[in-house]
Amino acid sequence: MLMTGEQYVESMRKLNLQVYMFGKKVECPVDDPILRPSLNSVKMTYDLAQLPEYQDLMTAVSPYTGERVNRFTHIHQSTEDLMNKVKMQRLLGQKTAACFQRCVGMDAFNAVYSTTFDIDKKYGTKYHENFMNFLKYVQENDLTVDGAMTDPKGDRGLAPHAQADPDMFLHVVERRDDGIVVRGAKAHQTGFINSHEVIVMPTISMGEDDKEYAVSFACPTDEKGIFMIVGRQSCDTRKLEGAVMDTGNPEFGGTEALVIFDNVFIPNDRIFLNGEFEYAGVLVERFAGYHRQSYGGCKVGVGDVLIGAAAVAADYNGCPKASHVKDKIIEMQHLNETLFACGIACSALGTKTESGNYLIDLLLANVCKQNVTRFPYEIVRLAEDIAGGLMVTAPSEKDLKDPKIGPYVDKYLRGVNSVTTENRLKILRLIENLCLGTAAVGYRTESMHGAGSPQAQRIMISRQGNLKMKKELAKSIAQIKE
Ligand code: SF4
Ligand code: FE
Repeated sequence: MLMTGEQYVESMRKLNLQVYMFGKKVECPVDDPILRPSLNSVKMTYDLAQLPEYQDLMTAVSPYTGERVNRFTHIHQSTEDLMNKVKMQRLLGQKTAACFQRCVGMDAFNAVYSTTFDIDKKYGTKYHENFMNFLKYVQENDLTVDGAMTDPKGDRGLAPHAQADPDMFLHVVERRDDGIVVRGAKAHQTGFINSHEVIVMPTISMGEDDKEYAVSFACPTDEKGIFMIVGRQSCDTRKLEGAVMDTGNPEFGGTEALVIFDNVFIPNDRIFLNGEFEYAGVLVERFAGYHRQSYGGCKVGVGDVLIGAAAVAADYNGCPKASHVKDKIIEMQHLNETLFACGIACSALGTKTESGNYLIDLLLANVCKQNVTRFPYEIVRLAEDIAGGLMVTAPSEKDLKDPKIGPYVDKYLRGVNSVTTENRLKILRLIENLCLGTAAVGYRTESMHGAGSPQAQRIMISRQGNLKMKKELAKSIAQIKE
C-alpha cells in the first residue's frame, strides 16, 4: 500500500527515535523546527507518488508483490527503470531544492539484492531470502529506509582490524544462536532521522583479518542501542528566529547525523553478509555506483532551481538582457545538463546482473559523480556572480518589517521598481541558502564527498577505463609492430 504524505508523517511520529541536538535529546523530531523541513522533503516522495501525472515516474509494479510500489523501494527491472530513477530524482530536486534522502535506501536495496544473490550462490547461505523478505515488508508498507555505509574510519592508513580503537568501523562483537550483536558508528547519515529502517553495509573492501567487520543487515531506526547526533548546517538556527524569509527555503531541507550503534542485536533473518569478507568490496562498488548515478538526477534538479533563481535575480536587478548575464545562465544550463546526460547515459548502458536486476554502467556512473564534484561549484560561482553581493549582506526580514527602519530597507534595497523589495530579498535568500546555507550541505560539499570523495571515482575510472585497449588502438593506427 502506498502511504500518503500525511500517513508517512504520522508513521514517523510513532517511532521511538533517540535523537540528540545541541546537547539535548529531541523529544519529537517530527515537530522540531530545525528538523521538520528535512522530513517535508521525504514527505514529497510520498506526495508526488499519489499524483496521476507522476505515476509512471514515481511508482512501479513490483514483480515480488505484484502491487504498485513507490519507485524508491523498487528493484530495477530494466534500463528504463534506471533512467526513470534519475528522472524521478531530478523532479524531486526541483520540487524541494534540497536532499530528499530516500535514495540511499533505494541504492542499498539494489546493491544488496544482487550481492546477496552472488554470496548465496558461492556459499549456500540464506542472505538473499533474508533480503527478499525484508524488501517485501518495505514495499508492502511503503517504508523509508536509510542506507548506512560510511564508518568514521579513524586512521585512514590502517585497515579496520588494525585501528587503535576497534570500533572505528562497525563490527560484530558477539555471536549468538539467534543473531549477532554489533557495535560502531555510521557518519554523515543522510535522512536516518526520517527513516523507518536502515540497511547497514561495510564501507571499504576487506581482507580476511577484517572478517568481523564484513557485515550487512537491516534493522529499525529506533532499535535499542541506536542513537543519532544531528550534524549542524550553516545557518541552521535561522529556522528558530521566526523570520521565514531569512531561511531562503522555508519548507524543505535535508539532514545528516552521526549514528551510534551501541551493542545492537540483529536477528539472523535480518543479516545479509556476515564474514564473507571478499563481498564487502563488491557491495561497496555496487552501492557507490548506484549512488553516483543518483547524483546525475538530484543535483541536477536542485541545479534547475538555482539556475532559475539566478535568472530571477537578474530580472529583479534589471539586467536580464546583459549579454554576459545571458551567457552565464547558458553556461550554468550547459553544466547542469551535462550532469544529467551522465546520469542518463550510465543508466541507458546498464546491464542485467545474474540475480536479475539492472546495474548501471560503472565507468559512466563514476564519470557522472566526478563531474558532480566540480560542476555544481561552477554553477554556484556563476549564481553568486549574477546575484550580486546583496545575497550575503541583506538585512533580516525583521528589519524589512520594522515600522521604523523597514521603509528605509524597502526603499534602498529595491532593484527594478516594479518588483517589491521583499521579493528581491526572497530570491537572494534562496540563492544564499543553496550556495552557502543549509542546502549547501546537499548541493555543494555533498557534491564533493557524498557517494565517495573524488579520488574514489578516479580509482574506479582507472580500473574501468581499459587503457590497454586504447594503447592497442593507437599502435594499430600508427602501424606499430612490436
Ligand atoms: Fe538522494 Fe541526492 Fe540526497 Fe543522495 S544527496 S539522498 S541522491 S537527494
Ligand atoms: Fe548523498
